[in-house]
Amino acid sequence: MSLHIGLDSLDRGLWGCTTYYLYMIVKEIIRSRLRSRLKFIDYPLLTRLNPAIPLKTRGNGAVSLHLRGYEEDLREAVEIASQIVGSGRVDSGKGGAIALYGDLDRSLAVSIYMRGLSDYISIDQAKRYIVGFAHRVLMDGRGVVGSLISIAHHFVSGDYTFELIGYSESGGFSVDRSRVEAMDRATRPLTFGNIDPDTGRVLITPRVGRPTVLGVRGEVPDVLIRSIEILDPVGLDGYMVFRSNQATDQHMVYWGSVSQAKLYRTGVFIGRLESRPKVLRGGDVLFDISDGSGHVVGVAVFKELGYGNYIARKLLPGDLVLVGGSVKPWIIDGFTRPVINVEMFKILRVAEVYRLRNPRCRVCGGSMSSLGSGKGFRCKRCGFRDYGASKIRERIYRDLPVGVVFKPPTRYQKHLTKPLERFGFEKVWVYRSISLDIGRYIR
Ligand SMILES: [Zn+2]
Repeated sequence: MSLHIGLDSLDRGLWGCTTYYLYMIVKEIIRSRLRSRLKFIDYPLLTRLNPAIPLKTRGNGAVSLHLRGYEEDLREAVEIASQIVGSGRVDSGKGGAIALYGDLDRSLAVSIYMRGLSDYISIDQAKRYIVGFAHRVLMDGRGVVGSLISIAHHFVSGDYTFELIGYSESGGFSVDRSRVEAMDRATRPLTFGNIDPDTGRVLITPRVGRPTVLGVRGEVPDVLIRSIEILDPVGLDGYMVFRSNQATDQHMVYWGSVSQAKLYRTGVFIGRLESRPKVLRGGDVLFDISDGSGHVVGVAVFKELGYGNYIARKLLPGDLVLVGGSVKPWIIDGFTRPVINVEMFKILRVAEVYRLRNPRCRVCGGSMSSLGSGKGFRCKRCGFRDYGASKIRERIYRDLPVGVVFKPPTRYQKHLTKPLERFGFEKVWVYRSISLDIGRYIR
């Protein structure tokens, strides 16, 4: 029999982190007699969710654990999880954890997962899915949705990465910058996002507070463990390696037509520019795209997109663009309207643009000026009047990089965004049950 445990939104202010609860659960399981009786059928999963959903926890991620064994042993594992989750000062409005016995139907799992990354699933919908089979809900609330999506993630094939997350309960954690640089040199491209190439900022030491003090992302678990040896940090109490959808672009679901650009959806949309781009104060660029049959949506290309933002300013009505991002409500001129907050974009085709210019003098080749509409032209140099001449239509050469993908620099990328340095390193996890030697991936 199999067991799937999902956790979401167990953050406690700046102190806690949902991944830490799963770390403690796994630690406790392998410390108990269950270690030899249970099979870990997947890596612990760290599932990033739709970045457009407003009611999210910091980082917008859920985690899950996948086990196989005899029912009584699995029940004991749930007991352990229940105690650890219950011991936290969980924000009960948000925190959620579920344990499901038995496997999800795979096509249902795929649909839950894809909706979880690119669309909206309500708590009621999530509960209806869960009630569908023999289940046990440990805790209630909003986190049920993320927990379910992370469990579904296990049944989905696709690109994947790993993150080693390090913890320090006591504090006093530190790592030398020179060691981060050495680790980066030794392990890239099998690790990525270690240091911001533009600012030199170290990106592997997050962000906020304890107990999460370290996060190294990469392609291969053993390389991540090797990276810890090179980093040799002070005050690291432990770590665990998670399999993840981070840096895979799996949220870039192809919705296609602008008519699909509903609020809080995330994905890829295609449309033609309706208007000239407006440059907002601060440098962000805003324009409308349409599907040609009345559906129009706003597109915001933020300053952070760098060169892409510069290119966006040169777009003209009629240009065909592909934009990837989240549809969010903007208030423009007092009205709320959907605007795609762009995470990546690409010009598919530029419109042909012409300008009209005055003809050249037939006698001397000089420039001519108009004698008035339909009245012909007169040469500015020799005075020749050409009553039959008309304006000449000339195509403007538009120097735009068609087909090039623009993405923001590493430091501005969302967790799910595939950095350009990962292109070519995609790999496919084909859904299967493995027998993981979990002891190698946790300390
Ligand atoms: Zn002339």
